Amino acid sequence: MFPRHLVALALASTVAACAGLTGCSAQTGGEDEDPSLVDGADDGDGTTEDAIVSEHSLVGNELPDHTLALTFDDGPGPRTKELGAYLATQNIKATFFINGKNVPGRQGVLSALVENGHLIGNHTQNHLQLTKLSSAKVISETTLTDNFIAEVQPNGPWLLRPPFGAWNGATARAVNGTPMKKYVGSVFWDVGGVLTATAAADWDCWGKHVSVDKCGSLYMQEMAAKKRGIVLMHDVHSPTIDMVKAIVPKLKAAGWKFATLEEVPSIKRAIGNVSAATSGDDACSSSTLGRSVPENSCVQSRSDQKWHRCENKEWVDASGATDPKCTGGKFPLTP
Ligand SMILES: [Zn+2]
Repeated sequence: MFPRHLVALALASTVAACAGLTGCSAQTGGEDEDPSLVDGADDGDGTTEDAIVSEHSLVGNELPDHTLALTFDDGPGPRTKELGAYLATQNIKATFFINGKNVPGRQGVLSALVENGHLIGNHTQNHLQLTKLSSAKVISETTLTDNFIAEVQPNGPWLLRPPFGAWNGATARAVNGTPMKKYVGSVFWDVGGVLTATAAADWDCWGKHVSVDKCGSLYMQEMAAKKRGIVLMHDVHSPTIDMVKAIVPKLKAAGWKFATLEEVPSIKRAIGNVSAATSGDDACSSSTLGRSVPENSCVQSRSDQKWHRCENKEWVDASGATDPKCTGGKFPLTP
């Protein structure tokens, strides 16, 4: 019915889903971990036909050596504007994944971030776990925050990071069935997901009374171990702003460079795929072809080599290259 790799993506995401303000235990496990879904799950390359928003869980492991992309979730908060201005003085362009519920009264913060060269991403309206919501609610949670973003960043890029990193085939299908399919995601992270003896998650540091200095040095340890990546922090917490101001000069002195999320190779490719697939009025978006195709077109998917046919704007299984229903055109992998 729908590509199995979407489920694989959901599993990968929920395992590390500890980004939010609440603890991890309640957010992991549950309905996504049906072992029958793991069996035979298709890793592929994440480009099965109806996967546009879902693609992969996008991470930064292809960034150049000693390069970081800073991301801040759950704001805007009381010190977000200050953080954005500080990063601008350091010539660092970060991404702020906002919750729309925090915007009223702080619209000016979003404009200030954009003026400082930062990107605004969608972290949904109310920071709910999307995998537990109805399709209608997934769409409204995404769309409400999109309205704020579109005001200050009308030409995108459109970057989506679900709360807790929790994402699955159902959430992807919900988003892909609406204008919100312009988003790329799920944007994940490489550094900052969990507090251990050699790594840190800022929200967990503050909850456990780990000092700003200690938390910052744990972040730097994890960066040194990974050598590159997307870094997760939360600008809604005041100590996080102090920590950023403490570690940025040290990172620069140690030779680290900073990239924007648009420069992260996996995200750059996803943005290219989405804009190719959503241009034109054709019925179904094909990730394999990187564009849309008309009804009853049949495409052989790059990720599972199987044939899919566009029917009523959805991808359905096709029997193969000789399927008589493929009246809209045939697109084999090797023409
Ligand atoms: Zn969050």
